[in-house]
Amino acid sequence: ATKEKEIMKEGHELLARLYHHCLTNTEYGQKAKEYLYNRGFTDEMIDHFQIGFAPESWDFATSFLQKRNFTLQTMEEAGILAKREFDRKFYDRFRSRIMFPIWDTQGKNIAFGGRIMGDGEPKYLNSPETRIFHKSKTLYGYHMARPDMRKDDKAILFEGYVDVIAAWKAGITNAVATLGTSLTQDQAKLLSRNVNTVVICYDSDQAGINAAFRATEHIEKMDCNVRIAQMPPGLDPDDYIQNYGGERFKQDVLGASLTVMAFKMQFMRRGKNLQDEGERMRYIEEILHEIAKLPKAVERDHYLRQLAEEFNLSLDALKQQQYQAFVNQK
Ligand code: ATP
Ligand code: MN
Ligand code: MN
Ligand code: MN
Repeated sequence: ATKEKEIMKEGHELLARLYHHCLTNTEYGQKAKEYLYNRGFTDEMIDHFQIGFAPESWDFATSFLQKRNFTLQTMEEAGILAKREFDRKFYDRFRSRIMFPIWDTQGKNIAFGGRIMGDGEPKYLNSPETRIFHKSKTLYGYHMARPDMRKDDKAILFEGYVDVIAAWKAGITNAVATLGTSLTQDQAKLLSRNVNTVVICYDSDQAGINAAFRATEHIEKMDCNVRIAQMPPGLDPDDYIQNYGGERFKQDVLGASLTVMAFKMQFMRRGKNLQDEGERMRYIEEILHEIAKLPKAVERDHYLRQLAEEFNLSLDALKQQQYQAFVNQK
């Protein structure tokens, strides 16, 4: 059984090389290469992340693997091939897609993410769960980022593969991404084994903000610090880097990351007119409620003071009110 898993990984490895060759050295990959260049990918990025192209064919991978004496059934179980119901014939799962190999913690190729060129559905076709690929335990780019994560004692967490790749180009080599789901406890554990701080840098839409809060809980459970980095609305990290360059990304986005509490404060302010007394009071109550949830007394004290100072309130009054909030919460 272990043997079979090794064979599944080997199939991925060989196919990744073939897809990469197809993208970089053949005319089948020409359009895909132009698409990538237009998006700001360089040859260096394409090589480092072994990006490839699966041509428009139902049997490109199938016949390649067959020629190499792989059992097609095993390759189907590996997620590389699919099986047609009516005649039980195998065919390529990935067709006409840009291929991003996905690696396990050891750096073994265990899955693919396939992006359509331009618009179309689904935008990304990922390998299914298999005996070698457990999405909830895998982080894109982990094995490459690990040494620098440890060196910096910090990991950057993105939403997309492309964000990791764009950041790498900008010299940010401690970044990983989840694979289209929100961060799981297992993934948080993987990060916390290597670093004491995780900077979450998700897309700045509502979905990204919600996912950041969920991720925060998992990371904090592992006794790891969280910071949240934000981009202007409508941009993801890759967009930002394409538009403003890597240096500004490092300074204005990563460098301006906030603690979770500071981020919440900023978030709760949005759309509120703090000049208005009612809205101001509501804001203060919401913040008190959040402060009450902080596990460490020092932290609670810090933010209470900050709040008192900002709104020119007495610390005692805030503490009193927070005590009430705490009681109400129970
Ligand atoms: P691009 O810049 O190429 O559009 P992205 O990384 O910005 O890609 P997002 O829409 O932000 O794409 O999605 C983030 C991640 O979510 C992707 O890297 C991918 O893993 C996953 N994902 C997105 N769309 C799908 C989908 N339709 N099916 C499965 N996974 C998806
Ligand atoms: Mn998104
Ligand atoms: Mn995105
Ligand atoms: Mn993007």
